[in-house]
Amino acid sequence: MKVKKSMQLILFFACVFYASSGSSQPIREEKNLIIGGEEIKVGIKQTIDLKIKGGYSIEKIKIPVTIIRGKQAGSTICMTGGIHGDELNGIEIVRRVLSQYSPKKIKGTLVGIPIVNILGFKRGQRYLPDRRDLNRYFPGNPSGSIAARVAYQVFEEIIKKCDYLIDFHTASFHRNNLPQVRANLDKPFVKNLAIHFGTSIVIHKPAAKGTLRRAAVDANIPTIIFEAGQPLRLHISSINKGVKGMTNILNYLKMIKTPYTIENNTFFTNTRWRRANSAGMIFPKIQLGSLVHKNDLLAEIIDPISNKKSSVYSESEGMIIGMALSQIVLPGYAIFHIGLKDSSEIQESVEQFMETDPLKEDESDN
Ligand SMILES: [Zn+2]
Repeated sequence: MKVKKSMQLILFFACVFYASSGSSQPIREEKNLIIGGEEIKVGIKQTIDLKIKGGYSIEKIKIPVTIIRGKQAGSTICMTGGIHGDELNGIEIVRRVLSQYSPKKIKGTLVGIPIVNILGFKRGQRYLPDRRDLNRYFPGNPSGSIAARVAYQVFEEIIKKCDYLIDFHTASFHRNNLPQVRANLDKPFVKNLAIHFGTSIVIHKPAAKGTLRRAAVDANIPTIIFEAGQPLRLHISSINKGVKGMTNILNYLKMIKTPYTIENNTFFTNTRWRRANSAGMIFPKIQLGSLVHKNDLLAEIIDPISNKKSSVYSESEGMIIGMALSQIVLPGYAIFHIGLKDSSEIQESVEQFMETDPLKEDESDN
């Protein structure tokens, strides 16, 4: 049952214990798993290089992929980090999750690509060296630009083997995001995946064309994004939320069996950006996660020469879910991302979702 709530966005915790003992049968039939041309055997944890065609000889593009294939049958879940090469939190989340598990500890298969945009990562940059955004080229093209070629091989040789996908991001340039799941909540199974990640607010947002999330959902692979923090910085509490969220998902998919907790989620079905209306140095007066009302002071912008000061007031009521770092801005620059109060819901009962069967929902979502 979903209940509309007003601004008392009180996150409370529901302790949920993995309870099913009759769910040991495989969720999907086990098949040969071939990644990057190599067959991945049952009971093995290994890292292979996905060799991308199209790089030049002195800088071959090799994307490391780690696969943990449990002895017992189960789902295949994939994690991707670093599609934007400067987004470090996701890379660290994928590394930490992969380091926690062995084939003995999981049912099914866990696949992690910590750094998808390896060329951008090496340069400390969001984009590929030709300034293309890799996350606008999925599902790719084997004879297109280098972005399209990377996207094609990643999608064909790895993503299509996944039953579920979690893609990790941070905010983009000079901005910071409150930890948040982004998902197309119109798709029931995607919504359930978002609920069971369970460590952050959830934003309803159908994915843009060309993104990995959009391509995967179009291919009937339930996919969510976890987005937290800022580029080029490691933010430990965000990383911890990402790792905990993955633990929740692995429990939900019955790939591991440990007692776990999930927070009740706050959902926002609509968000709005508050933009700068003058130029200058920006000094925020609120923080990520702050609840704001109409006409609350959000920031001051001061012209560095004239000393002229202007104030930025909120035009909406809601929660600050993303914001610009202190910097120089020009009119129109998006400075505060607000999850709108009118669109917020709290998922009151978590238990009911624990009773649902991932396999059945998976079919209904297609
Ligand atoms: Zn990103």
